[in-house]
Amino acid sequence: MELTHTFTTYTEAAERIATKHPAAARMASHALAIVEAGKVHPMKDGRGALVFSETGRGGYQVELRDDGPTCSCRAHTYRPYMINGRAYCKHIMALGIYDSVKGA
Ligand SMILES: [Zn+2]
Repeated sequence: MELTHTFTTYTEAAERIATKHPAAARMASHALAIVEAGKVHPMKDGRGALVFSETGRGGYQVELRDDGPTCSCRAHTYRPYMINGRAYCKHIMALGIYDSVKGA
């Protein structure tokens, strides 16, 4: 996701993704909604998060691995958004948005 900047607001972070990756703009707005709903719960080891479903049914395990992020949702496996050969879904993006603000 290349969110190397630290943003002041989640909206700012989501807009940055949408600007750099117009094809992922919809995914970024869903990711923003997930973050703003308080559905991102980072793991204590900083290597991932439990991200609750946007629709309120269950949650997904996001892991930040050395070879790229993974998520347990179906979208990540079957219809991810690719950036630099790495697969993203809205849950991974939500954690990216969350981290880019919380890391301040
Ligand atoms: Zn996912």
